[in-house]
Amino acid sequence: MSPQVPDHVIDVSLIVPVFNEEAAIPGFMHRVGAVMADLGVSWEAIFVNDGSNDNTLQVLRDAQRGHNNVGVIDFSRNFGKEAALTAGLDFARGQVAIPIDVDLQDPPELIGEMLEKWREGYDVVFAVRSVRESDSHMKSFSARAFYRFYNWMSQVEIPRNAGDFRLMDRKVVEALRHMPERNRFMKGLFAWPGFRQTSVRYERPARSEGTSKFNYWKLWNFAIDGMTSFSTVPLRVWSYVGAMIAMVSFIYAVFLIARTLIYGSDVPGYASLMVVVLFLGGLQLLTLGIIGEYLGRTYQEVKGRPIYLVRDTYGFGQDETR
Ligand code: UDP
Ligand code: MG
Repeated sequence: MSPQVPDHVIDVSLIVPVFNEEAAIPGFMHRVGAVMADLGVSWEAIFVNDGSNDNTLQVLRDAQRGHNNVGVIDFSRNFGKEAALTAGLDFARGQVAIPIDVDLQDPPELIGEMLEKWREGYDVVFAVRSVRESDSHMKSFSARAFYRFYNWMSQVEIPRNAGDFRLMDRKVVEALRHMPERNRFMKGLFAWPGFRQTSVRYERPARSEGTSKFNYWKLWNFAIDGMTSFSTVPLRVWSYVGAMIAMVSFIYAVFLIARTLIYGSDVPGYASLMVVVLFLGGLQLLTLGIIGEYLGRTYQEVKGRPIYLVRDTYGFGQDETR
């Protein structure tokens, strides 16, 4: 499965995950083609067809006609955007790799600026959204809350409001390829290797064609993946909560014993008893749930299944696996 070590003869590899994007691909190719021609760099576009059930593969094959720099990796089913990006990085031959959305929400015009920073010596140039006008209030609020909470919890900060759209030097790509975890929280994985990082700003436009593939439920699960794969704080915090409760209980017990000794025992106390029992019961279930989250993830990792399966590749030269 793992492709051979490529010879880095190309300047820029664009990595484009696509899932039911037949409408967006021609416009994307057109605009990216124009931008890259202006920049005068050699480039390739690696499309990863993430198990689309529309005509995406056919549209991609059409787009390959007359271009020898377009590669298509066809997944055996939908593995998710994160897996698609992983595959793209495995197949990329460029000196730099840039994951980019096909819906033109990541403006290709920024690539020139990114390359300039790269030539100045930066290894990672991420594109930061300065406004989230195209997103709803709810989405931008939840995004803000997520970044704040995440960066408070985990060791490696992820830059706020930076998506997957970023330039990465070959060094960084190779580092990422050595991160074998099944749980691909790309924002975190991308941040983990470090290196010299900088950012460029842009305004995120609305989607060109089609609709977003991410709903709130998906995003929520995505956030949980992110937290649990880069932080063990949720596991540890319960020791502190437990210690606190034990301390308070001890003080309360001393108080109860003293009161019973002085005033004798009384039957009432149903309310306080009930509150304590329910509260602790709830807390224990919550804690168990969190341990379960981690255990489940450990199970996934231990099984060691491949991150993605390729049905076929197109446009990668003689030996189609490269
Ligand atoms: N995508 C994918 N697999 C999925 C979902 C999305 O490859 O399971 C691709 C999609 O085709 C697009 C990119 O990921 O190129 C971003 O998706 P989308 O625009 O729906 O996300 P949003 O911009 O709303 O965050
Ligand atoms: Mg989009």
